[in-house]
Amino acid sequence: MKVLVVEDQARLAEFLRQGLVERSYTVAIAATCAAASDALSESSFDAVVLDLGLPDGDGLDLLIEWRASGFMEPVLILSARDTVEDRIRGLDLGADDYLPKPFSLQELLAHLRALLRRQAQVKQAVLERNGLRMDLVGHLVQLDGVQIDLTSREFALLEVFMQNAGRVMTRTQITEKIWASHYEIDTNLLDVYMSRLRGKIERGSVSRFKTVRGIGYQLV
Ligand code: CA
Repeated sequence: MKVLVVEDQARLAEFLRQGLVERSYTVAIAATCAAASDALSESSFDAVVLDLGLPDGDGLDLLIEWRASGFMEPVLILSARDTVEDRIRGLDLGADDYLPKPFSLQELLAHLRALLRRQAQVKQAVLERNGLRMDLVGHLVQLDGVQIDLTSREFALLEVFMQNAGRVMTRTQITEKIWASHYEIDTNLLDVYMSRLRGKIERGSVSRFKTVRGIGYQLV
């Protein structure tokens, strides 16, 4: 799952990034309204954590803009503005949740899980294919009933394939979903991650992935 964190305090943004990455989320940080708009237009996200006081504007204006343009994924406001009026305003403008600062990371993660679980009922929270079971909200992967430990990026990679089982995924489609920004992408790295993932979820001579030369990969 990919989360956009809109936060201008660098240390707090880094703290959030680390906490989320440890729980297998892919994270992009935007420190300004402009950067947040760019991030959302260049990539898709499963949720947004939104600060309100930003150097070039108000997070609420971003929220209004996103909702008007049809962005329907969950938005959790994380703000030092925490009067009842502030919260009502944020929720009325289209936020799904509102957490005041200072906050506990554990609580933020729990709120985020709740939002994603709700969202996942529309999509699908548990994906299964050929003995492989993936719980997107609980971040668990099982192979024939046995738990498999994946790193956060391996998890994100597997999720792309499980969401698109049987389809050939191009290298661009894959990297766009598992790297936070286009600038980080090194396609050789994708092959490295693919081989690690295969090492963990393929047993014996069973091949779960088909390599489509020059194009990408397919989960069979
Ligand atoms: Ca701020």
